[in-house]
Amino acid sequence: MRCWIAPLARFAPPSASSRYSGRRLQASDKVANRSYSCPMSLGEFDIIARYFARKSARGDVLLGVGDDAAVLDVHAGRKLVVAMDTIVEGVHFLADSDAADIGYRAIAVNLSDLAAMGAEPAWMTLSLSLPRANEQWLNGFSSGLFELANQYNVALVGGDTVRGPLVITVQIAGWVEADAWLTRSGAKPGDLLFVSGIPGEAAAGLAVMQRHMLGGESAAFLKHRFLRPRPRIELGRQLRAVATAAMDVSDGLLTDLKKLCVASGCGAQLNVDSLPESAAMRELFEADDGLQYALAGGDDYELLFTLPPERAASVLSSLQLQQRVTQIGVITGPAEDGPVQCLRDGQPFRIKRAGYDHFAAGDPQ
Ligand code: ADP
Ligand code: MG
Repeated sequence: MRCWIAPLARFAPPSASSRYSGRRLQASDKVANRSYSCPMSLGEFDIIARYFARKSARGDVLLGVGDDAAVLDVHAGRKLVVAMDTIVEGVHFLADSDAADIGYRAIAVNLSDLAAMGAEPAWMTLSLSLPRANEQWLNGFSSGLFELANQYNVALVGGDTVRGPLVITVQIAGWVEADAWLTRSGAKPGDLLFVSGIPGEAAAGLAVMQRHMLGGESAAFLKHRFLRPRPRIELGRQLRAVATAAMDVSDGLLTDLKKLCVASGCGAQLNVDSLPESAAMRELFEADDGLQYALAGGDDYELLFTLPPERAASVLSSLQLQQRVTQIGVITGPAEDGPVQCLRDGQPFRIKRAGYDHFAAGDPQ
């Protein structure tokens, strides 16, 4: 897309020969024009060609990066599942983050949304707004991005590259078998409530980084949990025909559980004592801080899901798990005093701060 409002001084004039030769426009002119409309030290075309135009082994990519749009083969009978997530410097990752970690995060957060739908990921597009074209950064970013893309056989089939603040948007698409996708809205009173992994470790990892905490292996482990979240694709695929509701936990366990309850028109009782314990968190943080991270910290990218009580035991024993799954509560009927009730030692329990909401705190000053 042309950059209409770029300052005129930035525009390099086309060479006289290409402008007045009277020859017909060729495909290469389109690319050449593009590279001086939003100039970077490395042209837009070079960035795409060097870092993002990778051949995919997927047979369903009929036309990938390089044309005006991608053409994909969508199988009859399957349903397409599409999600998009944007990550912004200073909001979703720290300004001094390693480029490979940013690339990894850009796709991980999207894969997590497909996991929550029970979908198999297949294709993605990438919108990249960059303040400058730094080759070292692009190298790191693309290696982090493709590390996870290759693991899940996701093809990058197109995108857009512009100059601007560091903002990265990935749109991901995948598929589910007909009529077998997961939603937030299917939970019923009596269903048992489960979470994968150990919620809170990612938020604790962020705290370790922000406070420059030392702490050997435990600190390194928690940092890794924040920087390299594992999308729970395999778990989502196994749950797709058996869970009554599912969502991924990105803004904090309590906040996201509330969303699931509202979507399902019910309430939930969360038993704080059942939350899985993290040995690394126990070593580095006070118990109360750990609890705060588990309930309100974001960036876990674990799955929250519900199972009907009569099927729960057999479903759980049939799952092939790469991480633990823990029952943390039950779904109830709608409650008057808020959708989620936390219990500790059987008594109502309140945490200090709720989870993350981009707009709840008002406009940035
Ligand atoms: P257009 O202006 O027609 O959208 P572009 O010159 O912006 O075309 O893009 C050329 C090709 O490169 C398109 O196939 C586009 O999808 C792809 N592309 C651009 N930026 C990226 C990117 N960051 N990652 C992957 N593909 C990209
Ligand atoms: Mg474009």
